[in-house]
Formats: sequence, structure tokens, C-alpha cells
Amino acid sequence: MTAIAVTIAGSDSGGGAGIQADLKSFSANGVYGASVLTALTAQNTLGVTAIQDLPEAFVRAQIDAVYSDLKVTATKIGMLSRPDVIRCVAQGLDAHETGPVILDPVMVAASGDPLLVNEAVEVLIAELLPRSDLITPNLHEAARMLNGAMAETQEDMREQAEALQKLGARAVLMKGGHGAGPESSDLLLDHNGQEHWFTAPRFETRNTHGTGCTLSSAIAAGVAKGLTLKDAVAEAKSYITKAIAAADRLAIGAGHGPVHH
Ligand code: PLP
Repeated sequence: MTAIAVTIAGSDSGGGAGIQADLKSFSANGVYGASVLTALTAQNTLGVTAIQDLPEAFVRAQIDAVYSDLKVTATKIGMLSRPDVIRCVAQGLDAHETGPVILDPVMVAASGDPLLVNEAVEVLIAELLPRSDLITPNLHEAARMLNGAMAETQEDMREQAEALQKLGARAVLMKGGHGAGPESSDLLLDHNGQEHWFTAPRFETRNTHGTGCTLSSAIAAGVAKGLTLKDAVAEAKSYITKAIAAADRLAIGAGHGPVHH
């Protein structure tokens, strides 16, 4: 039987991140992907030039259409843009069988352009942390959710993961990719409070666009196929590490190019 995952996220017209990256990652990781669009971005590798939020009722209509027909075994959530969309997605999740929910708390594009309005961060925490089986913040996103400084050490990462769990997240994957040093370590703090570290070499490349989207979708794909969260994270980390290692072979656009094709 074909496993089915859904991405609830924004469109990146440049094809490197968002829904486009999610569907590629689902496919590469062996699951069928369906999509619920929350916002459209006019974007390329240099930046975002416009954002069009989709009406709440239309976001809900997509959720109802997809989940009422497809037997979905994992859901990934990415760009949500505004508080009303977040609330609408939260209600939509409650109304359906979504499988485990992997929330990538997307806040800014690789170009630095905002993808979530400031006042939405509190709403994201209140509405979606408790509904997620895993959240996958990078170091900037974790600091912003906690109103704190960016974690610098593994000890800081553990403290912030625990603080995010206290805010309602069941499990937390703190991604160390924005840190420094020759290696990039991610920490999975699972629902039992157990720590699992995933370490890979750090590769220097400008082509990092879509890294977070690709990773969270690969985790959702693993979970959709029935892997445990820990095994799904391990497989997804190895998949994204290979993509980052090969990213310089891609020459797409003049800015931060996509991490994979
Ligand atoms: N979602 C959309 C629609 C985006 O355009 C972006 C980045 O530009 C992201 C999510 C986050 O991208 P990344 O995977 O680089 O964190």
C-alpha cells in the first residue's frame, strides 16, 4: 500500500523551498504527497518579492477535500504566514485523521525575508505546539519562540529543547545547522525526555534554500511509512546531509540556490 503524507505550507515560485521542496522530498523518500497551500510567494533564489495569503475558508476547503478522501499517515506543516491561517489549520487538524504532525516553525526565507508575521509567533505556540508530535526549529526559530538568545553550545540546545517541550511541544528536533564549527549536530528530545544527537560534517555552500522544508518532509515521509520518530529523523538527517554535500553541483539562480532537485 502506498503511504500518503500531506504538506500544509506555502508555495515558492522559484521551486526551491515550500510546497515544491516538500513534494520532491516526499517523492524521493518513497511516499505519495498531497498538498494544502496556505500562501503563495513570488520568489526566486534572490528573495521574496510578494506574498499572497490564501483565504482561510479556502485553506479549510483544501484540508477537508484532502483528508476526507485520502488515507493520510503523516502531516508536515510549514509556512503559515498569519494568525488566522494558523487557527484555521488547528481546527482543520482537529476535524480529521492526520497521522503524526511534524511542524517546521518557518519564520524567514533563506534570503532573510519574513514568512510569518511577528504577532503570529504567540498564536503558533498556543495553537500548534500542543497539536504537533514533533517540532523542528532551527536555532533562530527556537530563540524567537523562547524570546531568548541563540543557543551556542549543546547544553544551550538541550535547555532550549526542554523549554520548548514545556511550552507544549511533544518532541523537539533542535537543528544545529545555523551554528558554528566543523560539524552540525541536531538534538532530538523525544516525548520521554530522552536525548538523541545526530551529527554530520558541516559543508560550506550557498545552496541551502529549502533545507528545512526538505528535512521536515523527509521526517514526515519516514513516519508515514511507519518508522519510529527516531528512525525517521536518522534517515532524514542522512538524506539531507547527502543533499547538502552535493548542493554545489546545482547551478540554479544567482542567489541562495536550492539544496536539491
Ligand atoms: N516555505 C516557503 C514557502 C518558503 O519560501 C521558504 C523559504 O524561502 C520556506 C518555507 C523555508 O525554507 P527553508 O527550507 O530554507 O527553511
